[in-house]
Amino acid sequence: VIGCFGLTEPDYGSNPSGMITRARKDGNEWVLNGAKMWITNGSTAQVAIVWAKAPEASGDGKGDDKSDRSIRGFIVPTDTKGFKAKDQKGKLSLRASDTSELVLEDVRVPASAMLPKSSGLKSPLMCLTQARYGIAWGAIGAAIACYEEALAYAKNRVMFDRPIGGFQLQQARLADMLTEIVKGQLLTLHLGRMKDAGTFTPQQVSLAKRNNVSVATDIAREARRLLGANGILAEYASMRHMANLESVYTYEGTHDIHTLILGQAVTGLNAFK
Ligand SMILES: Cc1cc2nc3c(=O)[nH]c(=O)nc-3n(C[C@H](O)[C@H](O)[C@H](O)COP(=O)(O)OP(=O)(O)OC[C@H]3O[C@@H](n4cnc5c(N)ncnc54)[C@H](O)[C@@H]3O)c2cc1C
Repeated sequence: VIGCFGLTEPDYGSNPSGMITRARKDGNEWVLNGAKMWITNGSTAQVAIVWAKAPEASGDGKGDDKSDRSIRGFIVPTDTKGFKAKDQKGKLSLRASDTSELVLEDVRVPASAMLPKSSGLKSPLMCLTQARYGIAWGAIGAAIACYEEALAYAKNRVMFDRPIGGFQLQQARLADMLTEIVKGQLLTLHLGRMKDAGTFTPQQVSLAKRNNVSVATDIAREARRLLGANGILAEYASMRHMANLESVYTYEGTHDIHTLILGQAVTGLNAFK
């Protein structure tokens, strides 16, 4: 079964706490209404986890549009009446996976479809902490692919009667790539050990996601440049990674949002409010 994770909405990206999607109780069912945007695998998934405000399920049972206390997760089979997924067309990044808009119109699910013990925005954010940790590794993987492609090319491509890898400019480029890859690997390895020990914090994960995606984006661009004109061909991987990493820069918390998370962690001052 393929699943998708529906948190982002057309008007609520970096601040999902403002989400408009609502769940109301009707007898022994929840009725969901709203829309989600940019949902990976939305149109291929058999099941969607949809985050919605269910004021009746919040602690005090009151509707509260400002707070995120009433945010709950719902398991929604995608063949439920009223559920529609529409692919977003024209993507220049992550073209191998579907990214979809989900529309929910009076989608009825049983009371048991509501995830237990998942009250508040902290629940989807806990999922994101795990995903962001994986992304920190994934970005370094993409960077390694670009580095290895650039290194092989530098050793083979002859210009001015010698391999371009023999020129100091290209050696500096490769040395910088390798250095950032090794730093990112060590950072994430350390984080992984802390994860195993149950001691890592979301802020530390933000630091790794922010750093690794940023350096991987730079490395992909530098690799593309080292490849010269060949670098724009689909036959080589660097430009594909470069385009894909632009999505990774934005999803699972944009680079800017992770900057603010770190800013808050070090200053104690919340820039979101
Ligand atoms: C390919 C892809 C797949 C995705 N998959 C999923 C998915 O499966 N499920 C899901 O729920 N979502 C998914 N997303 C959505 C993604 O999480 C959002 O795009 C992301 O949270 C940013 O929201 P936004 O695009 O609305 O940008 P916005 O929030 O509108 O941000 C626009 C710009 O403003 C900046 N900004 C926002 N707030 C601040 C601030 N306080 N201070 C300074 N700058 C700020 C941002 O950093 C960004 O540069 C996906 C996105 C992409 C591109």
